[in-house]
Amino acid sequence: MAIKAEYIWVDGAEPVKTLRSKTKILADGTTDYPDWGFDGSSTNQAEGHASDCILKPVFSCPDPIRGNPHVLVLCEVYDAEGNAHSTNTRAPLREVAERHAAHEAWYGIEQEYVMFEDNRPLGWPISGYPAPQGPFYCGVGADEVFGREIAEEHMDACLEAGLKLSGINAEVMPGQWEFQIGPAGPLEVGDHMVVARWLLYRIGEDYGVTMTLDPKPVRGDWNGSGAHTNFSTKAMREEGGMEAILASMPKFEARADIHIANYGPGIEQRLTGLHETCSYKEFRYGVGHRGASIRIPLQVAQAGKGYLEDRRPNSNIDPYVVARLMLETVCD
Ligand code: ADP
Ligand code: MN
Ligand code: MN
Ligand code: MN
Repeated sequence: MAIKAEYIWVDGAEPVKTLRSKTKILADGTTDYPDWGFDGSSTNQAEGHASDCILKPVFSCPDPIRGNPHVLVLCEVYDAEGNAHSTNTRAPLREVAERHAAHEAWYGIEQEYVMFEDNRPLGWPISGYPAPQGPFYCGVGADEVFGREIAEEHMDACLEAGLKLSGINAEVMPGQWEFQIGPAGPLEVGDHMVVARWLLYRIGEDYGVTMTLDPKPVRGDWNGSGAHTNFSTKAMREEGGMEAILASMPKFEARADIHIANYGPGIEQRLTGLHETCSYKEFRYGVGHRGASIRIPLQVAQAGKGYLEDRRPNSNIDPYVVARLMLETVCD
């Protein structure tokens, strides 16, 4: 049977890149996925006169939607001269990841998102607002949780694809959810995240539900959406690793401005200092502190080793950029 290979790539949309994909039919048994091309003038990726861009496969997995033998093929974008395209943030991460391979960095990204139907979050009344935040986070019951069927289908699809999904939960705002990818290496966490996001949007199509990674999709007294990024090096995970975790804090503090500038557009609207955030103007860390920029989980402090949680990244991050910045900050 011919293979339907869904080639997925990140486009050049501003200020937040979006995902694109198209299907290539490959002969039965193909395992070596060929390069392909697309029209960069339709994806904000054409530079100069040459609008042809090249797709180079970098990661593939079973397609849980079309089923066996079909596949999802994640690609990096290159220009006609064979250089990594300026929108290709995976290529620069590759170099940093190779340079610091000995540190064995792991990441866990908590992707928050909101399901929308008819221009309002799923489960919200047609006019007015739902009850204030409180009962929805990790809630159960038809009056508290909306879209579970979709979140469950997405979880199953990620697992069938072999992605390193580590869990899901309903979030503090009705219609808001989270899934986590990790622990995984620097390139791997981004690759699995991009494919998991693609599956989320794709499954949403079947329900007429759109998924938004907008960091502040509803104004007012509602939590925004983040992408807390958990990070560790081998030294942090080993006996006495707390010392390495604490030693990284001044490094994070020194680069706070660069991080805020690259942790997703609209970060100032989300990191207000309210709603379990630390103001984007400040840098604070603390054990079990959900109002900190970086939290050291309580179990990590108790064990004296483990990982740290950077709570600042927005839901709309480019995971390759965040992975690179954290690795440079801690290991350069
Ligand atoms: P929270 O308590 O902040 O909601 P979650 O359970 O949602 O935390 O997410 C924690 C994430 O951290 C998971 O993706 C998990 O895989 C990841 N993680 C666990 N251990 C490590 C580690 N040593 N290094 C990096 N990430 C880790
Ligand atoms: Mn979480
Ligand atoms: Mn969360
Ligand atoms: Mn978290």
